[in-house]
Amino acid sequence: MKTYRHFINGQYVDSTSGEWIESIDPFSGEVWARAPKGNEEDVNLAVAAAKAAFENSDWTDLSASARGKLMRKLGDLVADNADRLAALEVKDNGKLFSEMKAQMVYHPEWWYYFGGLADKIEGSIVPIDKKDAFSYTMYEPLGVVAAITAWNSPLLFIAWKCAPALAAGNTVVVKPSEFTSASSLEYASLVKEAGFPDGVFNVISGYGADVGASLVSHPDVSKITFTGSDLSGQKIYESAAKNIKHVSLELGGKSPNIVFEDADLDMAAKGAVAGIFGATGQTCVAGSRLLVQESIHDEFMERLLDLAKSARLGNPMDSGTHIGPVTTPQQYQKVLSYIDIAKQEGAELVFGGSACKVPGADANQFVEPTIFTNVSNDMRIAQEEIFGPVLSVLKFKDEEEAIKIGNDVVYGLAAGVWTKDIRRAMRFTKALKAGTVWVNTYRAFSYMMPFGGMKRSGLGRESGIAAIRDYLQVKSVWLSTATEMPNPFILR
Ligand code: NAD
Repeated sequence: MKTYRHFINGQYVDSTSGEWIESIDPFSGEVWARAPKGNEEDVNLAVAAAKAAFENSDWTDLSASARGKLMRKLGDLVADNADRLAALEVKDNGKLFSEMKAQMVYHPEWWYYFGGLADKIEGSIVPIDKKDAFSYTMYEPLGVVAAITAWNSPLLFIAWKCAPALAAGNTVVVKPSEFTSASSLEYASLVKEAGFPDGVFNVISGYGADVGASLVSHPDVSKITFTGSDLSGQKIYESAAKNIKHVSLELGGKSPNIVFEDADLDMAAKGAVAGIFGATGQTCVAGSRLLVQESIHDEFMERLLDLAKSARLGNPMDSGTHIGPVTTPQQYQKVLSYIDIAKQEGAELVFGGSACKVPGADANQFVEPTIFTNVSNDMRIAQEEIFGPVLSVLKFKDEEEAIKIGNDVVYGLAAGVWTKDIRRAMRFTKALKAGTVWVNTYRAFSYMMPFGGMKRSGLGRESGIAAIRDYLQVKSVWLSTATEMPNPFILR
């Protein structure tokens, strides 16, 4: 069994608790690794290292261009290790190797993009309205950033959070999910190899309620960047408010994927499948509410069912597998419980709906891809995030009803629209209350495109130029050229 350690101040170290959390392969059920069960003492050590590094000239004296070079070096190292890191992710989260490999091959782009941006963070000279004054703004890092991540794509979240955070000159403490700590702990060695000064990048593992909560409340942490559920996000936001910390929250979703009668129905059916069965539905942007126009409902469902029937469940390491296991036993139970809820609510089960056995999958965490029709928008399966391969299909009459149903949910992370009518597409991109709207595609991402949620899906944006502003604060500087101080009792 592989043993991982915390990575603090450039060194791998044991947890002060001497306790461990076991990593279980979601496919085989094998306990294949263990990671430290961190505690408050470990948090104090990691934050102290990050704080010292933030004040140390090894980091503060580096020019922004030099920071960018380190980041590009790290991107190259990730590219060289893409296969190994992707396989590690699969061992922990059970997602398809083909998907995790594609993520790891693309992952360096965040380091290249934000590495290139590091020396283009410019303040401005303000054409100030006061006599004898010269005024300008400058952008400064925030300090120690705590990056708390979810289990579905741990390393991608490191890139999304740490690339802009380090480009801006902050230092970081990463806390991966207790279910998937191995890859983030392993990744730390590449950061060291790239040449980042000790303490700039730290990783500690442990449970959210102790390590996560201690990080969030630590007085020397200036910003929390979080990916996870809206309930955890709410607790983090409340705790961070006590010390007025900066917070970015990437939370859950219940995204509408809307198919109009004029769409290319074959493409739309593939888009629906990509939206809900990709990553076994364990993706924040899952198109879990499929809105289909009444006039094409039955015809579209036939195409969708044909595609769903072709999905192969199997070992996530096999290139022929389409759907892997659910990542954790808890999540597996949750998905099955929502299938029961849907049946009780009166939705019509037209495909799947059960746990299933897959040869070699001794963890027993497979759920059939599942489709419910006749779902109404007030049902729990239309409103609550399931985070699994369960699709709710709702009918709509016209544009007005599609927008009403599409927006009638507490979340606002993403939405899809399938139509050949460019005017309709433009009306919908404006009307849908979601951080990302895809037209005639789904689950497309880029390091250049801001990503984040509206409403209960979160605060702040990751990727794109906008992301770096979330890791900076603006300082206003006034220089006076006057030779005399005017009346000191009056505001200048
Ligand atoms: P989670 O909220 O249970 O856990 C996420 C992380 O937060 C873990 O590291 C956990 O240990 C930590 N944590 C939990 N409680 C905490 C607390 N009180 N204080 C500090 N840290 C705490 O989420 P999960 O089950 O790991 O992930 C699934 C959720 O993440 C889904 O809701 C999904 O939609 C969301 N998600 C969002 C995005 C996005 O970019 N918007 C991406 C992926 C996943």
